[in-house]
Amino acid sequence: MGSQEVSTVDWQGKHVTVAGLGVSGIPAARALHERGALVTVVNDGDDERARAQAAELEALGITVRLGDGATLPPSTELVVTAPGWQPDKPLFLAAAEAGVPVWGDVELAWRLRGDNGKKAAPWLAVTGTNGKTTTVRMLASILEAAGLRTAAVGNIGVSLLDAVLGETEYDVLAVELSSYQLHWAPSLRAHSAAVLNLAPDHLDWHGSMEAYAADKGRVYEGNTVACVYNVADPATEDLVREADVEEGCRAIGFTLGAPGPSQLGVVDGILVDRAFVANRQKQAQELAEVSDVNPPAPHNIANALAAAALARAFGVEPAAVRDGLRAFRPDAHRIEHVADIGEVAYVDDSKATNTHATEASLAAYDSIVWIAGGLAKGATFDELVTGAAKRLRGVVLMGADRALIHEALTRHAPEVPVVDLERTDTGAMSEAVARAAELARPGDTVLLAPACASMDMFTNYNKRGEAFADAVRARADESA
Ligand code: ADP
Repeated sequence: MGSQEVSTVDWQGKHVTVAGLGVSGIPAARALHERGALVTVVNDGDDERARAQAAELEALGITVRLGDGATLPPSTELVVTAPGWQPDKPLFLAAAEAGVPVWGDVELAWRLRGDNGKKAAPWLAVTGTNGKTTTVRMLASILEAAGLRTAAVGNIGVSLLDAVLGETEYDVLAVELSSYQLHWAPSLRAHSAAVLNLAPDHLDWHGSMEAYAADKGRVYEGNTVACVYNVADPATEDLVREADVEEGCRAIGFTLGAPGPSQLGVVDGILVDRAFVANRQKQAQELAEVSDVNPPAPHNIANALAAAALARAFGVEPAAVRDGLRAFRPDAHRIEHVADIGEVAYVDDSKATNTHATEASLAAYDSIVWIAGGLAKGATFDELVTGAAKRLRGVVLMGADRALIHEALTRHAPEVPVVDLERTDTGAMSEAVARAAELARPGDTVLLAPACASMDMFTNYNKRGEAFADAVRARADESA
């Protein structure tokens, strides 16, 4: 069977254990039950919310076991797990011992696609440490501009399972995949896929950098048209080399420099394609201008090139790449320009929760007052600070692990003024913005790019970004 064909499973009477009540567990349990499977949901928690959810499923005839997510029900023939469950959990060890396969939500969506009589849309998949959401949304915008019926799915908005099982017909899906989801998706075969970059992240879950990279690399398995890699990140190209792909599938690089044959890149401010052209030795197809990319920061141009490569692999015309990039608006808190006050730009990149993301946003500006700090999650900051030192006008630090960043600044950028904010109350961000404004000079950018998680002081990165934007707007109103 060709890798893109739909495989049908006979679910009637099949004993399936769904691990985890939750965003993916509940729709998975329902979908399998509707197809005749005998479903048992197991869940670690046993709180009020879990009981209410369990009651709803039990009313349909689904068995739910609360307070014990560790024991494998004896007759289980298949486990379907929520992607976040750690692979060394006893339930999975028991499954492995019993020879029972484990699928994640992505694998299930892949297997169920097309089984409701709807067209089984091919998937264009994106993974990587940073930039997935942005790239997938750019890709969907390009596909839409080409007149295709599509959606950006995965960890954003619509879940994969909903997209596959719902009424709407799609021509193609732009799919964001995390390393967790790929870990549990053994038979997924994308039409084409991109790995944007690889930096250490989530190593506690995967166990090692090698295991993390191997899970990311699974996205290339069985690709039919293109494996898209980042020329500047050779580890992504290594993953392409190791992948087992369909005959005729090509390795396509993207680069911020001039592209070689079979690459997309940038020449004189123009995004160009030397991969999907008739003669790639001699021909370069113009796709869009750098200024069509929103915002035109280097890492975001890389995202745009990756999205363009996947769209071109799917046969999209150059004009649609340009129109789709022009129509794209970044999600909130991702290098979001909030206001200009007295010739100083204020930019919210609260989503920069690790050093790799922050490195990219610090690289996007020439002279920066940097607001950083929060929960470091075991990260070190020496490399980040060394790379950015020359461009730092000043730094305002806040949050639990700010001392780690302060120490790195003392070591590598002792001349840069640092404001160390101890307070963590609701007014802390206003003070951070006020202190940053004091440090800034005309032409500078005040950049919130914390390199840390937010949960020590905020509910999540959205709330942190909102606190920053509110404080900036209040200042803008005052100075108006
Ligand atoms: P993800 O879905 O992978 O978390 P997002 O698109 O939400 O990625 O971006 C997350 C963070 O990473 C943002 O702070 C953004 O500035 C940064 N970022 C986006 N693209 C890249 C890239 N290609 N390389 C490095 N950092 C990036």
